[in-house]
Amino acid sequence: MTSLRVVAIDGVLGAGKTTVARRLAEQLGLEYLDTGAMYRAIGVACLRAGHTVVDAASLEGPNGAKLQADAISVARAGIIDVRIGTDGNQLVQLEGEDVTAEIRSVEAARAASVVATISQVRTEMVQRHRAWAVSRGGGVLEGRDIATVVFPGAPARIFLTADVEERARRRHAEQTHRSFADVVSDLRWRDANDSQRAVAPLAIADGATVIDTTAMTLDEVVRRAVDVAQAGFAHADAPREDAPRSGAPPTGGPHADAIGNSARNLGPTRGERMLWGAVRTLVVSVCKLYFRASWTNANNMPVSGAVIIAPVHRSNVDTVLVPMLFRRRVRFLGKASMWKVKSLGRVFDKLGAIKVERG
Ligand code: C5P
Repeated sequence: MTSLRVVAIDGVLGAGKTTVARRLAEQLGLEYLDTGAMYRAIGVACLRAGHTVVDAASLEGPNGAKLQADAISVARAGIIDVRIGTDGNQLVQLEGEDVTAEIRSVEAARAASVVATISQVRTEMVQRHRAWAVSRGGGVLEGRDIATVVFPGAPARIFLTADVEERARRRHAEQTHRSFADVVSDLRWRDANDSQRAVAPLAIADGATVIDTTAMTLDEVVRRAVDVAQAGFAHADAPREDAPRSGAPPTGGPHADAIGNSARNLGPTRGERMLWGAVRTLVVSVCKLYFRASWTNANNMPVSGAVIIAPVHRSNVDTVLVPMLFRRRVRFLGKASMWKVKSLGRVFDKLGAIKVERG
């Protein structure tokens, strides 16, 4: 089976995804899709409908329910067209109307980040993004969930990142009417919102090549991305020892390789993520209400990449409490005796705990 020639690019805001995706697509003779533009178009549709779409609270209460319903309906049935115009620039249309400039406003970006937390919106978008690539035999797609959810089996997976300061500097150069501090604070808010949401949070996919663009020129980043893509395609095209014998039907339907049905690519299951969310809510509520605990600077948790959290372990409680302080699912160590009660052990396993035999 030939897998789709998909290059999946994810990364933080301002790391250069769109520019790199565009240049990479040119060099590989593929088309590229800026998936964020589609989320932005949904955000614009909701703003135009008179909704306030500024943060998670906008999705709460009766107004929030109406906002969610409207966003889901646009995602399901709206005509959102993202393509490259004859001048080589991206053209975005919503219901046939040009919204290319409108989707670039700060308000639209924020609205996009809010509607992108609605799971039904994401389900629709994922289908559209897959269909876009399948109809073209591949392409370069960039966004926040391309290699983790849309195409976890893509032959080439790239994660772009850069220092906050550098990303803010780049963004500020495009948005000179705003203060630098305002740009930094908006960037931090979006980083946190995108990486801490319950559904498809921004994360580095299995097998992704991380490119830190902080000190690189655009040409250098593109060269590196081309290398990753070509190596990925070559690997996908190479005959595999475990490939089905001729005549044997591939499992998983067309393009299952790129869409990646294999569990090893998917990280925690939906159930495990939901369990994490539920246990976290319980632990955090008890700590707040009963112990009146408070904590600060949780936003310093890096958006992506490896991080080690080392609590002082003054109490056994920190085994569970400390990881629960972060929305990002943290794997934590626990002494093996905690697994003695089997049902509790199973819960620890589902939470991603790592059993440690001491001594
Ligand atoms: O990439 P861009 O900044 O245009 O994306 C706008 C917002 O859309 C992001 O902040 C993110 O919340 C959302 N998004 C997403 N998944 C994607 C692309 C964008 O959640 N694949």
